[in-house]
Amino acid sequence: MPRFVDTSPPGQCIFCRLIAGEIPAALVYQDDQTLAFMDIGQVNPGHVLVASRRHAVTLLDLTPDEAAATMRTAQRVAHAVKTAFDPPGLTLLQANGREGDQTVFHFHMHVVPRHADDGIALSWPRKDPAREVLQGYAEKLREAMARLS
Ligand SMILES: [Zn+2]
Repeated sequence: MPRFVDTSPPGQCIFCRLIAGEIPAALVYQDDQTLAFMDIGQVNPGHVLVASRRHAVTLLDLTPDEAAATMRTAQRVAHAVKTAFDPPGLTLLQANGREGDQTVFHFHMHVVPRHADDGIALSWPRKDPAREVLQGYAEKLREAMARLS
């Protein structure tokens, strides 16, 4: 994961400044809710960031419509990356909160072209809980979702 962390306040964050045209970006696409531009880190050629136009910190701060718009843009960008760079794989990465590896606190999603042995490592330590434990987690989430609707 990138080590750069943007600690600027809302409205002055690097993505807000980029969206306002105050700092340069290699723009790929924009519409009324989203913006897609090249990640300056470029893990692999064609690595793009899709950001919400409005300053929202995490996925939970987006409206449902903005969430849908960012995924629509990510898919459009993914099609373009496939056409332009033809990577054999593609990873979407969206991080929320410091503990979730978010480094710029303005909602964004990485569209990362992938190649064999490209050095990207996503560690995923499986815990394999018992089936009853999974049922308990599912029940807890069903109750939470019922309260949200
Ligand atoms: Zn921002």
